[in-house]
Amino acid sequence: MPEDILKKDVKYIKGVGPNRVKVLNKLGINSLKDLITYFPRAYEDRSQIKSICDIQDGEKATIEATVVQGVTTRMLMRRRSIAKAIISDGTENILVTWFNQPYIKSELKRGETYRFYGRVSIKNGEREMNSPVFDEIGKYKNTSKIIPIYPLTEDIKATTLRRIIEAGLESVGEIKETIPDYLLKKYSLISLNEAIHQIHFPDNFEMFHKARRRLVFDELLSMQLGLLKLKSENNIETKGEKCDKKIKISKVINDLPFKLTSAQSRVLEEIDNDLESSKSMNRLLQGDVGSGKTIVSIIASYKVVKSGFQVAILAPTMILARQHMANFEKVLNQYGIKCGLLVGGMKAKEKQELLEKVSNGEIDILIGTHALLEENVVFKKLGFVVTDEQHRFGVKQRSTISSKGENPNVLVMSATPIPRTLALILYGDLDISIIDELPPNRQKIETYAVSRKMEERVNNFVKEQVNEGRQCYIVCPLVEESEGPSYTIRVDEKTGEQSIIISKGTNTKDLKNVTDMTEKYKNEVFKDYNVENLHGKMKPKEKEEIMQRFKDGKIDILISTTVIEVGVDVPNANIMVIENSERFGLAQLHQLRGRVGRGEYKSYCILKYAGYNELIKKRLELMTKTNDGFVIAEKDLEFRGSGDFFGTKQHGLPEFKIVNLFEDMEELKEVQALAISIIAEDPDLSLEKNKLLASMANKKFSSDKNIII
Ligand code: ADP
Ligand code: MG
Repeated sequence: MPEDILKKDVKYIKGVGPNRVKVLNKLGINSLKDLITYFPRAYEDRSQIKSICDIQDGEKATIEATVVQGVTTRMLMRRRSIAKAIISDGTENILVTWFNQPYIKSELKRGETYRFYGRVSIKNGEREMNSPVFDEIGKYKNTSKIIPIYPLTEDIKATTLRRIIEAGLESVGEIKETIPDYLLKKYSLISLNEAIHQIHFPDNFEMFHKARRRLVFDELLSMQLGLLKLKSENNIETKGEKCDKKIKISKVINDLPFKLTSAQSRVLEEIDNDLESSKSMNRLLQGDVGSGKTIVSIIASYKVVKSGFQVAILAPTMILARQHMANFEKVLNQYGIKCGLLVGGMKAKEKQELLEKVSNGEIDILIGTHALLEENVVFKKLGFVVTDEQHRFGVKQRSTISSKGENPNVLVMSATPIPRTLALILYGDLDISIIDELPPNRQKIETYAVSRKMEERVNNFVKEQVNEGRQCYIVCPLVEESEGPSYTIRVDEKTGEQSIIISKGTNTKDLKNVTDMTEKYKNEVFKDYNVENLHGKMKPKEKEEIMQRFKDGKIDILISTTVIEVGVDVPNANIMVIENSERFGLAQLHQLRGRVGRGEYKSYCILKYAGYNELIKKRLELMTKTNDGFVIAEKDLEFRGSGDFFGTKQHGLPEFKIVNLFEDMEELKEVQALAISIIAEDPDLSLEKNKLLASMANKKFSSDKNIII
């Protein structure tokens, strides 16, 4: 099969006209490859033939039955029609009806036998099957098989999409293999060609499982090989980045006003070793909110600067960059280390001056937001890059900043707790350090989930606390453009099936909600207090000012969107109220909650919710029960059961098409072990037997999309 055929536009497929092209594009299907890797979300088993007498009320079933009384069609009002027939399989008769399908009459012949599939209802002991699909015996299209159910939009019928995918598979022909023979044998995997066909139209469930396993294997292996290759490329011995062994970090540690936790000390030792080694560091530093990651990066920066290098600190928001600046200066100024802050919206002249000091080496540590990634930011001798809250930055951005030095040491800090096993797999290109301990005297944040009915009590509670001198955050679920996705839980009214809708970007209705809510709080509920509002649409300077005033205690109640999510430190704030908390991811709620409980006061988090169902209940209940970010992360994964959370959106890693990180944990471990052994034997995948794997790994991060074939 020529490689190019997969790139062909779907418009060339039989039965796909301009309108359907539009619908397919909306589903993310542009090429033939997209089409055949548009996997079903579920299957309906229509392969089991049932006796009519055994079918229960409400059950969907396939039956093989003969038409005993031919189709009669009756016209109803407004050009509607109803067609009826009676069929029997010898065990019982059943009435079948179709609305508005007058052509049925010519398709069903009395005395002939067909296979029917549809939902059966029983009324007064009489069975009826409504609008079944049917096939002639031996020519099965919609019955007698396992039928794939695809994620759909309203603009296309399930049967139409099935037909298009079938046509797509046909026009692709034999799909080229991606995994070498020796591995297919060793792991008893079916061919890619067979797997792709069987995942859409499985002969039976055993084949479905084999197909899925094969595709999961592909997806994981390509990710693992890609990451490990990145890692081995980073591991090439590089000169110049070695820090001076004579510079002792204990100097800074002894000057600190507090004692490091043992987890912080352990992690610092790991980092110190990396810095002294001639290989450049590539390390993920994980730790729950408030576990004290920043100080670790400050201490490491001391060593790097004193060894003659510069440091870049990349923060996701301006507020955080500024806070880092203050923290770094507080600790490091006394050693004659110079820090600079680079954020968007600076005056041209000011910026020019700063950039000059960075390029001539006057500034030792440059702290900033995305602005650091710009081309005009040039370092004299960059030796260390720290990215904070790394899920905001992608794999690519990480390498952009690193390219400003010669293989600088890289430390990625993340407050999104990921179970260690998973972190090892997802960050296959990084070594991992974990701070699994909070500084002493941290209190548990009391968390409550409350409905609208409790609004007044919540407001009164906030007033009480503020009267005692505390401050409060009220968080609204407006999604900022630069931030992660928000989650809405939708319940299908008919089936009760729950799904999580992920939306990105600001929606104007939300913005209005936030503004309305602010007005109400400002002018009515909390009119006797200092209330301010903070959101991503404000000018950076405005945001800074408000945050500063909140820090200084001049604002009692801060109504905010998730811009305060990361790292902001106000010890006097002890209550957080989260509006529509059902719309946030659990890990995000946990991060938000970490903004309180940073001081000596007992702290509270109140999760308000609208609407209530089992899933919301389960999720919020978990938040009230535990403060352990790792437990929350694990459960979040379980509740969602999908790759979205750990996909690109949050972690800068490619999205999965078929892998479910929760269900496929075992497979993940197996494939990772395999990938490690392959790379150990053949680091640049140059052996003849690994030729296919080399192209798999190379494709991996060449585009943002996951590559299966
Ligand atoms: P993180 O970035 O991991 O969320 P921070 O580094 O912002 O956490 O630390 C939160 C607060 O705890 C900061 O005010 C910091 O100075 C303080 N802190 C850090 N380590 C310790 C420690 N070992 N003992 C006491 N306080 C600490
Ligand atoms: Mg932090």
